[in-house]
Amino acid sequence: MSWAWVWWREPRALAEAPVESLRKVLELERAKGYADAAVFGGLDAFLRRLTKGDRSPAGACLRTALQALPGRGYAGLTPSERRRWVEGLLAAAADGPGPAGAPRVATASPPRRRSPGPPPAVAGLNLDSSVEVLKGASRATAGRLARLGVRTVRDVLYHFPHRYSDFAHIRPISQIVVGEEQTVLATVWTAAEATLGRRLKGTEAVVGDDTGTLRVIWWGQRYIARQLRPGTRLALSGRVTVFRGRLQMENPEYEALTSEDLIHTARLVPVYPLTEGLYPRVVRRLAKEVLEAFADRVPDTVPVSSQERLKLWPLPRALRQMHYPDSLNAAEGARRSLALRELLTIQVGVLRRRQAWQASGRAHALALPPAALEGFVGALPFALTGAQQRAMAQIAADIARKVPMSRLLEGDVGSGKTVVATAALLAAAASDCQGAIMAPTEILAEQHYRTVRRLLDPRADDQEPEGPWFQVLGSGFLAVQPSYLDQPIRVALLTGSLAAKDKAAAQEAIGRGEVDIAIGTHALIQEEVSFPRLGLVVVDEQHRFGVVQRAALRAKGGCPHVLVMTATPIPRTLALTVYGDLDISLIDEMPPGRKQVKTIRALPDDRDEAYGFLREQVLQGRQTYIICPLVEESEAIAAKAAVQEYERLAREVFPDLRLGLVHGRLPAAEREVQMRAFRDGRLDILVSTAVVEVGIDVANATVMLVEGADRFGLSQLHQFRGRVGRGEHQSYCILLSENQSEEVQERLSLMESIYDGFRLAEEDLRLRGPGEYFGTRQTGLPDLKVARLSDVDLLEQARAEAARLLEDDPALARPEHLALAGQVSHLWGSLTAEVS
Ligand code: ADP
Ligand code: MG
Repeated sequence: MSWAWVWWREPRALAEAPVESLRKVLELERAKGYADAAVFGGLDAFLRRLTKGDRSPAGACLRTALQALPGRGYAGLTPSERRRWVEGLLAAAADGPGPAGAPRVATASPPRRRSPGPPPAVAGLNLDSSVEVLKGASRATAGRLARLGVRTVRDVLYHFPHRYSDFAHIRPISQIVVGEEQTVLATVWTAAEATLGRRLKGTEAVVGDDTGTLRVIWWGQRYIARQLRPGTRLALSGRVTVFRGRLQMENPEYEALTSEDLIHTARLVPVYPLTEGLYPRVVRRLAKEVLEAFADRVPDTVPVSSQERLKLWPLPRALRQMHYPDSLNAAEGARRSLALRELLTIQVGVLRRRQAWQASGRAHALALPPAALEGFVGALPFALTGAQQRAMAQIAADIARKVPMSRLLEGDVGSGKTVVATAALLAAAASDCQGAIMAPTEILAEQHYRTVRRLLDPRADDQEPEGPWFQVLGSGFLAVQPSYLDQPIRVALLTGSLAAKDKAAAQEAIGRGEVDIAIGTHALIQEEVSFPRLGLVVVDEQHRFGVVQRAALRAKGGCPHVLVMTATPIPRTLALTVYGDLDISLIDEMPPGRKQVKTIRALPDDRDEAYGFLREQVLQGRQTYIICPLVEESEAIAAKAAVQEYERLAREVFPDLRLGLVHGRLPAAEREVQMRAFRDGRLDILVSTAVVEVGIDVANATVMLVEGADRFGLSQLHQFRGRVGRGEHQSYCILLSENQSEEVQERLSLMESIYDGFRLAEEDLRLRGPGEYFGTRQTGLPDLKVARLSDVDLLEQARAEAARLLEDDPALARPEHLALAGQVSHLWGSLTAEVS
């Protein structure tokens, strides 16, 4: 019973009279066979009287010893427990006090900060050494760290806490505050394994300082009892609670007050991302070890001049303060310094890519004579929005130069991107160059084929023969003669499913320069096609189109201008990072008079009513979509679920209607058949997995029913919603979700109130984070370790500095820039394969 030992030996306690009287009582208790008969009223009452009002250290110590008794006191012990308790106290007393036996009580000095002096040299180790070389990392620990992507010493250094526990408030026990995080510096009086609560074992300890004592428990962690030798001086950090009217600390962080720096307590303590089996203490010790040995040896790749301009802290200081900050301000300063370094590297990378693209060759200068532009705009059946005009002007200015354009045209579904792109294609044709549009699916290519033709010459509509237009135009060729141009514009469609002879004809015509605008899928970039005078490439729906294909298309015809269109609203920070090599034109205004798609949330109970509504719409001649819940496990499972849902709907719910089905496992050709049937009005209801997301423009479709709406992101739901409301009829989006939790319903309710894709994207990003929002791999977004996507300000600073560096030294060839150049190519090395 070590706690008793401590109590007897506490020198100040022994000087006091109550100790002697307790000894006598205990001896009497032994004599009476531990029957709690030594004093009238029981030992517990006696003990309370003994300590009551005693504010002396001895009284405090005695209370400490008593607190080590279980909740019901001495009376609550079994006879054998009573014997052990009494004998323990008496045996300790028999040892007697003595200078040798007295625990050394360190004076309560504030914990020491990092010791100055050079870091210990670690022979043969470097930043790329495996974590296993570290003292603090066993093989098992290394395995757990690997699950977090932490494999090398450098990784440990850059494995940052995501927050800090604020244990910086050090208080005497008498002044601790219930409910707050704080630290006490105290001596262990007793520590033992104990049964806490019903059956749960743990460690129970009593610690004390000059002002009082405190019960401390650790649930489930019995081993701690063995580590806490009585007399040890500890720092304990955690929250203080009240238990049976007494203060106690539960599961505090603790560490011995030795000469080493404190890393678990009495300061801002880092809270690291963990994984199963990896304990906070282990990671903190590792971080400390690595900081000591390596922080001063990490090469800083950011040139000194940039560091000065950006007011960066020296790297070692930033790293140290990021892990073990002196204050929250210091932590923020460290984060700023590290985030700027990170963003600078990324921005130098994206700007260099852009530089390389621009330097890769000379593009054709494309211009549309003002009269032709006027004619084109005048012939449109609508007036352009201000945003469309701005985007057109930006593009026109770019393509008029011989520096190849690299621009992202970003606009919500239905914002009218196609007409903007068509104006640019027209400029190419008017400049005796070829233009191309690449779409992710055949059906979208066909749609563009028709749209572009109509936009160039709205009269084309009247001339269109009867029957499904794709068959009529299926030969892959047409020429329009707009009234405002002298020359005809020859448009070709090139997709995989064209008849072989039509395909060959289109390819040859393109190769002979007889096609002004080629529209197609990836068939456009196949070997056989060559463009003698490729001036402009438009890539639609970028995120479904491999960037590799984009590069291949560029490679087809020298060095065309490139315009990438996307309906995915990308918040600015993400855009500057992911598409940082592109200039951005934003269409942030919808054409006037659009009817809002009425959006309604529904619960499973409402399903029949929703089906009834769909049926009503179909009876009125409209068409509808039903989106199956998102299945993430695999496309095969998703497809199977979709087939089942389709069969159920076709058999039980809508046996009299014409249903179609598309999912990711259907061969592309089969999918296209279904989509075409829907487009041409031969299907009433299209059941689909998320593949319908990008795409098709069916003016007659008025209802979008989304099953399992809670599984989708807001941006994705917004994309679904954009599939309806494209014609004159009032349209509806019904969001069905089984999940009725407040959180989910609140998120979905945003769809009812927000119709702006960008605002929804921001909400999405805020609620789900960028990984969910937009697969990192898919976009080539480097993992941000420190910077956040909300750091717009830091991002702009980094971008400006990157531009400045590159202007100064475009090849980053100067000695002071070599390290940065190396880091940039290291960072982008893995990504450039995916993002050209
Ligand atoms: P998205 O940006 O989704 O590709 P589209 O280019 O397909 O949008 O345009 C959607 C619809 O809006 C088309 O039917 C198009 O003719 C029409 N449209 C485009 N611009 C305008 C405008 N300024 N005023 C009215 N309708 C427009
Ligand atoms: Mg479009």
